[in-house]
Amino acid sequence: MDYQAVLDEVAAAVAPQVGRGQVARYIPALAAVDPGRFGIALAAVDGTVVGTGDWEVPFSIQSISKAFSLALVLAQDGESIWRRVGREPSGNPFNSLVQLEHENGIPRNPFINAGALVVTDRLQSMTGDASTTMLDFLRAESGNPELSFDAAVAASETEHGDRNAALAHFMASYGNLDNPVPTVLEHYFWQCSIEMSCRDLALAGGFLARHGLAADGSRLLSRREAKRINAVMLTCGTYDAAGDFAYRVGLPGKSGVGGGIVAVIPGRCTLCVWSPGLDARGNSVAGVAALDHFTTITGWSVF
Ligand code: GLU
Repeated sequence: MDYQAVLDEVAAAVAPQVGRGQVARYIPALAAVDPGRFGIALAAVDGTVVGTGDWEVPFSIQSISKAFSLALVLAQDGESIWRRVGREPSGNPFNSLVQLEHENGIPRNPFINAGALVVTDRLQSMTGDASTTMLDFLRAESGNPELSFDAAVAASETEHGDRNAALAHFMASYGNLDNPVPTVLEHYFWQCSIEMSCRDLALAGGFLARHGLAADGSRLLSRREAKRINAVMLTCGTYDAAGDFAYRVGLPGKSGVGGGIVAVIPGRCTLCVWSPGLDARGNSVAGVAALDHFTTITGWSVF
């Protein structure tokens, strides 16, 4: 397979869609991003890394961080997190409060904001510094020691973070947070603010294609745990459009409102696509179209 030729074909096919949709505006620092950007990278399990377009331009990973925080908690703490967070699709927007009340402060899954706050709370208890733990992990897995937080994005989210604060306080009232709400929010926002390129993210998500093996060949997750993260990405990783994403793309994927999507073909490769224009559910318009085209022309999906 000539990966470079495939990615170039995908980029050409989706060019008319780049710039469609809306950049995320509820975090003011993200609203300034150029909607005309598009990049895609592929990191194969044999070590090949290719990309096209803006594949080496850093962007805000936002909710893609939720897949990494879950991996870090499962790796070090095993299955106990599932007592505090479910693993069913929510069918509601990622920052919805409604379901939490019906379900007594137990978030439906780790990829809605409430669920990620619980996972971050656990990572904070385990490490004493959840956001730096994640940054160190991402630097090691991507092989890029230059990765950093974007302080302006983190500050912007903190300033406009009433919804996330409400979710956190609500869960605290049910006893589902161990750390103080401001601590959990701070680390959650810093994690979301990490800047990475498609290349960095395709490499950092490589352990999900390698059935749990870290970049240095050591075992980060058991095969079973890696399968579980991929399964939750498939069913819950693209907001309340996970059904449509599975229908069109047929891969585990995790999106973020920065316009990035990481998708995994277990045993073969990890892909990352970025284009900031989002559809009504918060997924990158050109990004989903690119992954759809990729799996169509290669025939590679989990189905
Ligand atoms: N930091 C964003 C928030 O909490 C993440 C949203 C996302 O990418 O889904 O609202």
